[in-house]
Amino acid sequence: MTDVSDRATEREELDRELALRAARAARDVPPLPCGTCHNCGERLPPGLPFCDADCRDDWQLRRRQSGC
Ligand SMILES: [Zn+2]
Repeated sequence: MTDVSDRATEREELDRELALRAARAARDVPPLPCGTCHNCGERLPPGLPFCDADCRDDWQLRRRQSGC
């Protein structure tokens, strides 16, 4: 049986989940390409923020651990 307060709680949990997901996604957004890899500093062709998926993953991991 679902009453109004149950539904309100579900709604709050959904909002919280969506906010968490948005915060996580924002943190995982790659930085703007600057000509060098943001992870290892290797020179890259224009338009690439990382040299490969490994560098991207390392960078995301470090960024998550540093909490910013
Ligand atoms: Zn790299």
